Amino acid sequence: MLEIKNLHARIEEKEILKGLDLTIPTGEVHAIMGPNGSGKSTLAYVLAGNENYEVTEGSVKWNGEEILDMEPDERAATGVFLAFQYPMEIPGVATMTFLRTAVNAVRKARGMEEYSTPEFMKVVREKANELQINPEMLKRPLNVGFSGGEKKRNEILQMSLLEPSLCVLDETDSGLDIDALRIVAEGVNALRSEKRSMLVITHYQRLLNYIVPDRVHVMADGKVVRSGDADLALELEETGYAEFGGKAA
Ligand code: ADP
Ligand code: MG
Ligand code: MG
Repeated sequence: MLEIKNLHARIEEKEILKGLDLTIPTGEVHAIMGPNGSGKSTLAYVLAGNENYEVTEGSVKWNGEEILDMEPDERAATGVFLAFQYPMEIPGVATMTFLRTAVNAVRKARGMEEYSTPEFMKVVREKANELQINPEMLKRPLNVGFSGGEKKRNEILQMSLLEPSLCVLDETDSGLDIDALRIVAEGVNALRSEKRSMLVITHYQRLLNYIVPDRVHVMADGKVVRSGDADLALELEETGYAEFGGKAA
């Protein structure tokens, strides 16, 4: 279970998170929605341990352990995974090599044996197959010239390979066509498990047509201001965020 209590965080002296509370029981998928600038991405970065953000108060417990005291690689080792809004491009590195390095780093930190190249190829082929990803993509340099959909598939594959217990997906939605949205949604749905918690951050309701969340939270001005079931997303699609001090989506 993820338990966030009274979380305050700032960047460059500006307080962005202002006492955020959020609990996600194990096995549930929760969505966070909210107006632009409300601090959704800041929350994702703080969970991942991005050093640009200073946490000034509060706690974030993952299965009873305080993750705010952990370095980003320790967080990854305990199973926390953040899917990035803007995947980086690495021209000189084949996607497969990047994935193997990332997965082996996490396995090592978890005290597991690292995959040899042939072992890893086998695992990747299985996962890629499950997620309907063409393994040919993995020979190309990481994200270079990938379509929006291919980047998303790659991100989902990476998430699946790392076998996280807490997945945080921060989606801007902008530039995501309906196919890319479906890829993300199918990936999330495939990874849904009673042992895993997922937090899907999104600006628009349409992603949640495909990922039906257990709970929806509205974030405004650095706090969770309202929570409800999946129908809350539909209601917000109608009313927008005006009542929470933001522009309608
Ligand atoms: P959201 O993801 O909900 O749109 P963000 O977490 O990206 O919101 O941003 C929250 C607030 O933090 C915004 O007001 C934004 O301008 C501010 N912010 C983000 N990054 C920085 C930065 N590097 N320096 C100062 N303010 C920032
Ligand atoms: Mg934003
Ligand atoms: Mg954002």
